[in-house]
Amino acid sequence: MALGEFELIKQFFTRPNHRADVCLGVGDDCALLRPTEGECVAMTVDTLVEGVHFLAGTDPEGLGHKSLAVSLSDLASMGARPAWVSLALTLPRSDETWLAAFAKGLLALAERHGVELVGGDTTRGPLSITVQAMGFVREKDALRRSAARVGDGIYLTGDLGLAGLGLEIVLGKTRLRAPEAVAKLERPEPRVQAGMALAGLANACIDVSDGLAADLGHMLEGGGVGATLDWAALPLPSAIRRHIAAGGDEWMPLRAGDDYELCFTVAAARENELAARMAEFDCSCVRIGRIDEQPGLRMKKDRRVLDIDVRGFQHFHPA
Ligand code: ADP
Ligand code: MG
Repeated sequence: MALGEFELIKQFFTRPNHRADVCLGVGDDCALLRPTEGECVAMTVDTLVEGVHFLAGTDPEGLGHKSLAVSLSDLASMGARPAWVSLALTLPRSDETWLAAFAKGLLALAERHGVELVGGDTTRGPLSITVQAMGFVREKDALRRSAARVGDGIYLTGDLGLAGLGLEIVLGKTRLRAPEAVAKLERPEPRVQAGMALAGLANACIDVSDGLAADLGHMLEGGGVGATLDWAALPLPSAIRRHIAAGGDEWMPLRAGDDYELCFTVAAARENELAARMAEFDCSCVRIGRIDEQPGLRMKKDRRVLDIDVRGFQHFHPA
């Protein structure tokens, strides 16, 4: 017999509380949470809809992971330390096998980052997952996307384009074999530690969810600045290089979303400090360009400088 709503919440989403700042978690009408004095609460919410953000039949454990990862990535890109999450789940049916795998993926990632699931909502309908995440950051240390300054180095954590390649593989658009690309698409690793290390050091930061060109475009627009990237410096993994060599679109890595790497800027005078700080943990980061005064995004490639129309890289652009 299928589980009812309350048994389902109890079995899959109620866990012992480990955080001292959670006065009351799942079970009452509200959670009661104690914010850290002297810090801002950073809050973000994201929804994943079946058929829009993921394909029907996607592995539920990966989906649980990704549902939380995208929200933790938003906290990371503010430089915030994650603390609490809530989960609003709309399910077509109460399927215990699916729920067990989904909860496993979500709660394992939460535990790794010391994050507590403190509440949510469970309803019946087409599959959709909404995760709200909250964390803390000092106001002066928060990494705003509008804070890029002329002369800043532009950096990217990890690598570029793999999730986009993963999507092409999953959709059967390429016959290239690259399990690491599918893994990156299905289980992105939010750059939580990197984000916290950058708080108070980087000027501007954004996570790459819609594609580097589009997301960097937001940052440039917000700061009233421009940028020139260096193609040779882009951290393109070998699978992407193989894909391009085999005739794949070479601009895909700039257009493709879902990598959830951090793109951030650092004042030239503090770039040495950055190297020292990032060396403390396992997250590569490379400089891919520089902020300049002239608005717009440019790419140095094969001794030429190309203009990149970031609007051409948006999901919805004006007709
Ligand atoms: P209410 O009717 O007061 O909104 P609900 O029946 O929706 O309460 O939820 C009961 C409790 O379970 C609440 O504490 C709520 O936060 C929690 N909850 C419901 N769904 C989830 C979920 N998917 N994950 C975590 N907590 C949940
Ligand atoms: Mg409710």
